[in-house]
Amino acid sequence: MRNMKFRSLILYFVIFAFFAGLGYYIFEFTRESRDWAFSPVNRHLSNGSLSGGKIFDTNGEILAQTVSGKRVYHENEDIRKAVLHTVGDGSTLISTSVQSRYNAGLFGYNFVTGFGAPDYFSSNQDITLTLDSKICASVSKKFGDKKGTALAYNYKTGEVICMVSLPTYDVNNRPDFSKDTDGKYDGVYLNRALSAAYTPGSVFKIFTAMAGIENLSDAETRKYECEKVKIIDGEKVTCMQNHGKLDLKTALSKSCDIAFCDIAIELGKEKMTRALEKFGFNSSQYFEGIELTKSVYDVNLASKADLGWSGIGQYTDTLNPMHMLKIMGTLANEGNLVEPFVVKSFSVSGAKENQKLTKTSEKSVISKITAGKMKEMMRFTMKNQYNDSLFGGIPMCAKTGTAEVGEDKLPHGWMVGFSYDEKFPIAFVVVVENGDFGIKSAGPIAGAMVKEMHGIFAKSK
Ligand SMILES: [Zn+2]
Repeated sequence: MRNMKFRSLILYFVIFAFFAGLGYYIFEFTRESRDWAFSPVNRHLSNGSLSGGKIFDTNGEILAQTVSGKRVYHENEDIRKAVLHTVGDGSTLISTSVQSRYNAGLFGYNFVTGFGAPDYFSSNQDITLTLDSKICASVSKKFGDKKGTALAYNYKTGEVICMVSLPTYDVNNRPDFSKDTDGKYDGVYLNRALSAAYTPGSVFKIFTAMAGIENLSDAETRKYECEKVKIIDGEKVTCMQNHGKLDLKTALSKSCDIAFCDIAIELGKEKMTRALEKFGFNSSQYFEGIELTKSVYDVNLASKADLGWSGIGQYTDTLNPMHMLKIMGTLANEGNLVEPFVVKSFSVSGAKENQKLTKTSEKSVISKITAGKMKEMMRFTMKNQYNDSLFGGIPMCAKTGTAEVGEDKLPHGWMVGFSYDEKFPIAFVVVVENGDFGIKSAGPIAGAMVKEMHGIFAKSK
């Protein structure tokens, strides 16, 4: 009898252990199965005899497809490298890529059978992107060995035409990153357009100018005084030049540090923070549901001089490139934002019907009056400071930035802007990490990118 009791106790224990184990497995499976299936060590699952949908660019170029059970990328190496962060490399390491985000549709992966569903069940959808892969390739090459990102989109339709992130690599010839001792491939899996935030330097003056316009009645008409150096509570704020007296429009075009330092200090921490938060700082911003790295404006612990520096895009300010692209599109579009997107449509392989993604409706982000004023001021800056020849005579509105990031490093170079003529509705952002002056580093890349897009727009008319 005692023996029986002992045996049944063991049996109960075994049954309990079985269900506990099963429960744990189901829990882990629910949480992790997608990552297991797409893990590089399990690549035989997805790259074996399975099929997969195609990824096209906007001109029908095939950027990725599955041929005889193997994932094959575009034949041109420059294109493969340029679209890597948008298309992905077949693993989930580039988590924001289309192949990571839409693996269910592309590879017929589903939660219940994994990749095991018979072909007639799995959908193997094709995806068409809004990118022009040729433009991406030529823009990406212009970075040379520099890191950074370049973005351009149609601010009327939301279509992202160019999105590149550097460093990149050839998916057909993946380097051994463990041997990267000089940081050449730092953050290589990040799409810097979405998952980075940089010190903005003078492109931030666009925000300080808008904060001034919306909070000070004479922000545009008064004369700011620059004597190159300004001492604030014993701390120095220095401008590039002694600009003398100048109004807001001229201060923006000459990028006078003292004028924007003065605006930030006069508005004070509270009003500056409120204005910046209205423009999307310190809160989550999204691109196709992907949370962008936050742009941050935090002057809680700032001294008076720090507050001044914060108005110039230094101190602890950071700015996400895609967030800035949205702001450029908003200013160009009379204060209304059309959300940018890169996936144009889904379609089941072989089917004629395309499932078009619905465009999100425009939303008013910045007042029409402020947007109109900024548009004119950035046009003035482009014409009088940089010269229209940079864009081959195409009338653009723009601002550069040269962001100091430490004494022994070259500054980050920025150029941001948009077309003045709505018949060519393009907004852009270029950041070159440690690239030196914005006009010298980001300027030529922006110029080449915009001219190439303009050529295609002109042809399609
Ligand atoms: Zn100055």
